[in-house]
Amino acid sequence: MGDTLDRDVVAARRAKVGTVLLTRSQHTDDPPFPVRAEPDATYPDPRGLLEAFQAATTAAPQPVPSTTAATSGTPVTGRAALLIDHGGVISTSRPDPAAVRELAADLAALLSSPAAPMSPRTALRLITAARTQAKRLKSERRREVSPAEFWVELVGEQLTVRQRALLRAEAGELTYRLGLLKSRRTLREGVLELLTTCRENSMPVAVVSNTVSGRAVRAICTAHGLDELIGAYLCSDEFGIRKPAAAIVQAALDAVAADPGKSWFLGDKPAKDAAAARAAGIAHRVLVRGGSTPDTDLQAAVQTGLATAVVDTPGDLRDLILTEKTLLPV
Ligand SMILES: [Mg+2]
Repeated sequence: MGDTLDRDVVAARRAKVGTVLLTRSQHTDDPPFPVRAEPDATYPDPRGLLEAFQAATTAAPQPVPSTTAATSGTPVTGRAALLIDHGGVISTSRPDPAAVRELAADLAALLSSPAAPMSPRTALRLITAARTQAKRLKSERRREVSPAEFWVELVGEQLTVRQRALLRAEAGELTYRLGLLKSRRTLREGVLELLTTCRENSMPVAVVSNTVSGRAVRAICTAHGLDELIGAYLCSDEFGIRKPAAAIVQAALDAVAADPGKSWFLGDKPAKDAAAARAAGIAHRVLVRGGSTPDTDLQAAVQTGLATAVVDTPGDLRDLILTEKTLLPV
């Protein structure tokens, strides 16, 4: 049921929908070009459609392949910026199995029908297997697994056309929930002070995160009171490319008009954060303890020149930035 001949009725006819209904609006009577397709019935408004709905058949759409964002951009030379990783740096997380089970229960409800009920246990097994598979694909291909690919192709691999269509329809929302619910997050010590110092020194801040949901990263940063201090978010699920690729760091530099030779990158993984930062020409590549990497590996990254410094907390980076600033010629 729609209100436009040129879009709703034409699209429905092309999709071979069984019954096509129009409810009249200001768009109905004046299509922008001649339309040959006709609705099966036209109603003045949505009242009285219950009988028509009860008689209607439903057709599940096929999954639509997702597109990957193209990257381009001219290098911008400019000011110093702070590029900062999210997981393990802005906040730490602890596994939250109860929250994952809650998502699994909702997924089971979404995918169940009277003829084919799905248990929360089955849904949890599908999510767990898909996360393992997605992790492998990401490291093999060095690019993101899109929400549609994760839910339709990985979770829905063995499911029915109808269930896959439901997964395609809810992929964005389910991914957001996965991003929020997979763990409990705690803001790390000194992050607010670090970002405030950057603001006071006219250094823009960009978050550069490998994540399943940039929407969830924004929500978490907002909940921690940081959003006002962050100029741009480059999240791999939206950007389509993950660290250690230089492209996502370059995009962050472009977004805040920063000079890599003057800029800082704070991360917790040498092979992802420091490597991406070095590939993009970032001068100051700092790793923070207490994230996901053992101290010996952090030290090794400094010794090989991959990273330029290691700090105990994100707040400790303030001193390094302020010291560097006093050394710079005015
Ligand atoms: Mg991290």
